[in-house]
Amino acid sequence: MLKDKVILITGASRGIGRAIAIKCAENGAGVIVNYREHEGYAKEVVDKIMEKGGDAFAIKADVSQIVEVKEMFKMIRERYGRLDVLVNNAGVIQDNLLLMTREKDYDHIVNTNLKGAFFCMQFAAKIMTNMERGKIINISSVVGRYGNAGQIAYAASKAGIIGMTLSAAKELGQFGITVNAVAPGVINTNMTKDLKSEIKERLIKSISLKQGMGEPEDVAKVVLFLASDLADYISGQVIGVDGCQII
Ligand code: NAP
Repeated sequence: MLKDKVILITGASRGIGRAIAIKCAENGAGVIVNYREHEGYAKEVVDKIMEKGGDAFAIKADVSQIVEVKEMFKMIRERYGRLDVLVNNAGVIQDNLLLMTREKDYDHIVNTNLKGAFFCMQFAAKIMTNMERGKIINISSVVGRYGNAGQIAYAASKAGIIGMTLSAAKELGQFGITVNAVAPGVINTNMTKDLKSEIKERLIKSISLKQGMGEPEDVAKVVLFLASDLADYISGQVIGVDGCQII
């Protein structure tokens, strides 16, 4: 489904990003595995893809730092000279109530989840507008659509992702570029593993589908669809992957 396409996935060393990288490589894409600090995990993703005859390479870059994002896109231009798909997946979480959230925690979350996606969209759009084709997929969250007590900064960043997605879709459509968001619910990754058991139980109860929590693969399948030609006429959409979670 992605033969001859080049795809950048931010935060692809673990969790959902890792699953997206592997799924896209299995479908023929050349995959750029971005990570911030876990080089070993990123290398493991690249090795797994290469062992199966795929094409992948890892780039260390903190997406909240424009200088590092600029350097990452320079490397992509040098290696491939193109970029067909950008998946803004890199993200951090740090839960707290409105009255307890410190400015430095707010900045860390918003700078990574929202500003990082903004930087990557800017650099990707420069390449894609020249190609007059491209796909941008931003990972939001069920929390960005509906809010959640105790996640004020995270919700702001993920709601911001939806606003940027809708605006970019309107700006970039004339260049043949689609921009969509995927809003996962509770997915079984490092991000959710340390949730207190009572919170986890409450969240699982709010999921309508009886299988409970989702797996990274559930999100990866939707991203693959949006990245492929099957989704050529889909833009400015937010697709929930949450088992019908009511929060
Ligand atoms: P995860 O397992 O904690 O993995 C996070 C990934 O983001 C890692 O690869 C990490 O790289 C990377 N990362 C973090 N900060 C970065 C930065 N500044 N620059 C570059 N990469 C950075 O998280 P996940 O659960 O897979 O979440 C992936 C995305 O889905 C996030 O945007 C998250 O908000 C969203 N999401 C997750 C859930 C869920 O239930 N898990 C639900 C809704 C939405 P290193 O390994 O190098 O640190």
